Amino acid sequence: MMRIDIVTLFPKMCEDIMSESIIGNARRDNLIEVYTHNIRDYANDKHNRVDGYPYGGGPGMLLRPEPIYRCISQIKAKLKDLNPHVIYMSPKGAKLNQQKVLKLKELKSIIILAGHYEGVDQRVLDVIVDEEISIGDYVLTGGELPALVLADAILRCVPGVLASDDCFLNESHVNGMLEHAQYTKPENWHGFRVPKVLLSGNHQQIENWQKTSAQKITAQNRPDLLNNKE
Ligand code: SAM
Repeated sequence: MMRIDIVTLFPKMCEDIMSESIIGNARRDNLIEVYTHNIRDYANDKHNRVDGYPYGGGPGMLLRPEPIYRCISQIKAKLKDLNPHVIYMSPKGAKLNQQKVLKLKELKSIIILAGHYEGVDQRVLDVIVDEEISIGDYVLTGGELPALVLADAILRCVPGVLASDDCFLNESHVNGMLEHAQYTKPENWHGFRVPKVLLSGNHQQIENWQKTSAQKITAQNRPDLLNNKE
């Protein structure tokens, strides 16, 4: 079973999202496990401080190393048989894509560290983090949304979480292309009709139409993907 532990200053934010909809149902069905840990519970000074000013100056605060180290070390010790992989969500990390998600879903246990303020003391990252992942070239206030994005992307690919594995094997970004256009009821919506071929029952023709549609959408929205394929 895949287990994800999120290390954060805002566990409720993560718990709330991970309790809803498809991921929440999969947790209740014991297909996946998600736990959250509050960095503040591992504070080691008498005022429960988890942040500090950056040495050398600069704006904002940084998360101190010791509370994060204590929290992640304890989780790792408890899960040592699962050999947890530790990821720090960071705009400085390698950019996430679906190929990476499909690799990560093969692991049994992932610990995701969500930073806050101006980030995290470099020493604890060097000591305890296996890799840094970014969800895109922009900066958010905290690592909770990125951690949730990564967790959702991985957990929905765990067998049994979606109605069928086809749902994540046959969609945008799996083969370096975007997905074809899709239609549902009614056949005629305000005069806009579903393409006839999709109603024909001819699987070969439908497949050809879907390929052409995928190529058109990819060329229009993400021509860079087509260039990467060559
Ligand atoms: N000072 C940092 C920098 O310039 O790289 C940005 C810190 S950001 C305000 C606070 C936290 O949000 C980071 O520690 C990280 O965990 C998270 N974060 C923000 N943007 C992110 C992104 N694009 N991908 C992943 N994590 C992000």
